Amino acid sequence: MDTIYALSTAPGRAGVAVIRVSGERARETVSRLAGVEKPRPREAMLRRLRDPASGVVLDRGLVLFFEGPGSFTGEDVAEFHIHGGRAVVAALLQALAGVPGLRAAEPGEFTRRAFEAGKLDLTEVEGLADLIDAETEAQRVQALRQMEGALGALYEGWRGRLMRALAYAEASIDFPDEDLPDDLLEKLGPEISALSAEIAAHLDDERRGERLRDGVEVAIIGPPNAGKSSLLNRLARRDAAIVSDEAGTTRDVLEVRLDIGGVPVTLADTAGLRDAANAIEREGVRRALERAEAADLRIVVASPEEGGDFAQARDGDIRVLNKIDLGAQAGSGVIGISALSGEGLERLEEALRERIGAVHEAQEHPLITRARHREGLQDCAASLERAGQGLASGLDAELISEDLRLAARALGRITGRVDVEDLLDVIFRDFCIGK
Ligand code: GDP
Repeated sequence: MDTIYALSTAPGRAGVAVIRVSGERARETVSRLAGVEKPRPREAMLRRLRDPASGVVLDRGLVLFFEGPGSFTGEDVAEFHIHGGRAVVAALLQALAGVPGLRAAEPGEFTRRAFEAGKLDLTEVEGLADLIDAETEAQRVQALRQMEGALGALYEGWRGRLMRALAYAEASIDFPDEDLPDDLLEKLGPEISALSAEIAAHLDDERRGERLRDGVEVAIIGPPNAGKSSLLNRLARRDAAIVSDEAGTTRDVLEVRLDIGGVPVTLADTAGLRDAANAIEREGVRRALERAEAADLRIVVASPEEGGDFAQARDGDIRVLNKIDLGAQAGSGVIGISALSGEGLERLEEALRERIGAVHEAQEHPLITRARHREGLQDCAASLERAGQGLASGLDAELISEDLRLAARALGRITGRVDVEDLLDVIFRDFCIGK
């Protein structure tokens, strides 16, 4: 395999930049650039770095060497911690390009090698990507947990149990006349039910993990002039939206990003929902409706001037009566606020935190964070159900085995461990010896 290199830190000016090299020529690269023949693994060395072609000194920096397989990629890895100036980075990258057998890494190639070396499973790779993208505390916690293997371990645990069930089913095919325990197939039923129940519970998560990863959409809706833009500005603590007493000023959908209880929230102020006077406004209303429809949570704002009714509100919406400074009283189930004075804002923010924060309460089990996981789990559950039904109706063990195998494969696809047959061999061998 080629030896690859890349700038691992963000491009641009910085105190330090890190360039990483991975592959069998990493050791030689250290020798060529830093003049260190036998780098001691995991020991920082401060060295002058030279362009091996010209001998020109490019920078002085820290050199680290990790010997495979004890490295991120599982290969020999070298790291050059250099000064983070554009010209320094460019010069180092150019020098590396000149080293025979080295080439620039493709996006994600270091992590891909780590996966191929078995250092990370796919869920851990995804956790790593999410950790790099994490914007809020709750996202960081979820991503780190996944990167450390919590989700992968859950799925591998289920897959292991499936493989064992499969071994039982297979044994009854391969050794029909042998002295297998009579209850061999009978043992399968409860295990299949137990697995099905656990997977169903895991799937029944209101998409909390995905919502935390993707962020939550909150739409503010209500009639023109109710104070939606004023409220958005209050919640964002800056003047993001234009506030005006001319009806229909917010023609499009305006968004701000908020961090509510650790969850990234996109708060969208929608154009006043009313009979639009012109085409542009009608388009605004159309988008507002679409947006409100797609939102995870809606804040419906009314004001006393409009009679304060919540005709548009549905179950699950947060109802807000704005402009209580004008003397109106909020009824039950309604939060009274004044976007002008800030009164009642705390109660509204508390309600938002309560509703959105529910996404990231300390979880006993790791959550599904991607549609990909959900699809795999649904496939697995469907195959398991078929296996269970087959068992109940006295179907051939071969057919039951096939469904169990499909169920295990669906889980294997999530973690990227698809060596079902290998694992089966191991388990089956043990099983036969043990019987
Ligand atoms: P939108 O059309 O729903 O976005 O409403 P705006 O935020 O543009 O506000 C419409 C008008 O109501 C503006 O003149 C605001 O100054 C005024 N307004 C907004 N919130 C309050 C409030 O809490 N009290 C009072 N008295 N006026 C408000």
